[in-house]
Amino acid sequence: YKNMSEELEKLKIENEELKKQNSVKSDLISISAHQLRTSLSALKWILKMFLDKDIGPITNEQESFINKAYISNERMIALVNDMLTLNHAEEIALSFKFEKVDLVKLVEEITFEFSGESSKKHNELIFLRPDADVLEISCDREMIRVVFQNLIENAMKYSNDGDKVILSMQQRNDNVEISVRDTGIGITDDEKSKIFEKFFRADNAKEKDPVGSGLGLFTSKNIVEHHKGKIWFDSNEKSGTTFYLSLPILKASDTI
Ligand code: ADP
Repeated sequence: YKNMSEELEKLKIENEELKKQNSVKSDLISISAHQLRTSLSALKWILKMFLDKDIGPITNEQESFINKAYISNERMIALVNDMLTLNHAEEIALSFKFEKVDLVKLVEEITFEFSGESSKKHNELIFLRPDADVLEISCDREMIRVVFQNLIENAMKYSNDGDKVILSMQQRNDNVEISVRDTGIGITDDEKSKIFEKFFRADNAKEKDPVGSGLGLFTSKNIVEHHKGKIWFDSNEKSGTTFYLSLPILKASDTI
């Protein structure tokens, strides 16, 4: 037994060392991504000043080039944002800060924050409140926010101007079930199985919106599973998609 306990001790030490190295790596990714994002944002505002003609008139040809640079810059910002959340999500439950959160209130906040966004794209986001006033879950608030933002942004991105996006929430047994429904481009049967894969983007999605990284759903699934929840969808090509989320409701006996 002595040998075995020595071996165990050695493994434990090695494991700790690996954890430390992994966290240094994650920190480095975070720092670089934040710095990248700062530079890209600065670039974005400069390009935007040109496009808004704040600096003076530009020719149509110049405008079309600057517009291309703007779109490409937006794509990089989206990628860096995904990198930041992905980096975080892959640190596994260790870095998650679980707390008691009322999901009804959180979704109300998110819906409110989207009201400016949705009017810009002429999509209306409607939140159908559940029967219960309060539905408490144990979660990392910022991470669950990322999941909702991804689902809502996708629903808007992949539907047409003027379409409504409907978010609803209901208690089902010990879980709270949320759905985000759109009437957009839908997902083809061939591509359904790949939707949660890292970097995957369907052809109709690329056509509709060239800006995207294919990391949003991969990240969201990862986050939801770390909350012991489930994420899935129903979709018909050309008539729309509904994403579902199920998260365990906090029981009185649960400790956080
Ligand atoms: P991104 O939106 O950056 O491409 P996501 O990981 O969020 O990446 O989504 C992956 C792919 O899933 C999308 O490219 C698209 O093909 C498909 N998808 C996600 N949400 C929807 C939706 N609401 N309607 C149609 N397709 C969707």
